[in-house]
Amino acid sequence: MHKGLLIVLSGPSGTGKGTVCQQLCSRQPRLHQAISITTRPPREGEVNGVHYHFIGEVEFIRLREAKALLEWAEVYGNFYGTPRDDVENARTRGHDVLLEIDPQGAMQVQKNVEDGVFIFLLPPSMEALWQRISGRGTDSLQVMKQRFAAANQELHRVWQYDYVVVNQDDQVDYTVERLEAILAAEKCKVKHHHDFLQELIKEGESIDLSLH
Ligand code: ADP
Ligand code: 5GP
Repeated sequence: MHKGLLIVLSGPSGTGKGTVCQQLCSRQPRLHQAISITTRPPREGEVNGVHYHFIGEVEFIRLREAKALLEWAEVYGNFYGTPRDDVENARTRGHDVLLEIDPQGAMQVQKNVEDGVFIFLLPPSMEALWQRISGRGTDSLQVMKQRFAAANQELHRVWQYDYVVVNQDDQVDYTVERLEAILAAEKCKVKHHHDFLQELIKEGESIDLSLH
């Protein structure tokens, strides 16, 4: 069985990562979105084990020390991390895995995993990003300003990614189609078809045309 892809979707807060991942996963039911652990308290409507595994700081540190996390980061005062087993088990079963993580975490995955696919989601403009951060209505003005300032810094990491996708205003469907196109292109890479190609070459050489 082929090992599944590891797709890392990252980018500044407010670009629309959560929105597009949700739509991508509903269109691609075989895609496995890893559920992160976090020390952040749940927001209204968030369900433990669905949106995140909500845990305490002591437990987070224990998992981190036990090397149970593929990557982790402190984002706006809370810890977030990706459980290593969840990702590896799903990939081994042949499922493509999607991580929706911040740029600090994405850079750690890049160091630790040699075959990840790294996608940076961008807003069409920084003005649009501010509108999204402030329009979400989940954070205080101070936190929104902090997120926008961090976004300006995080943009400098874009050069380390494989793909950029611009999440244009009110074009979530189109953004999701671009992500699906990347997935399709990655699946067509020669390196993922090694066994099949060897078989095909062998078969071609074994056919005796004098019998036809
Ligand atoms: P992130 O997960 O990157 O922090 P969210 O998915 O929470 O971002 O999106 C931030 C805000 O922007 C939300 O209010 C969301 O509804 C809105 N949003 C997402 N994508 C678009 C888009 N293409 N056009 C306009 N608003 C969008
Ligand atoms: P939020 O608190 O809004 O759900 O997420 C805040 C930020 O943390 C977002 O940029 C989100 O992508 C990021 N994040 C969520 N889960 C993880 C994770 O497991 N690891 C890292 N590094 N970042 C994460």
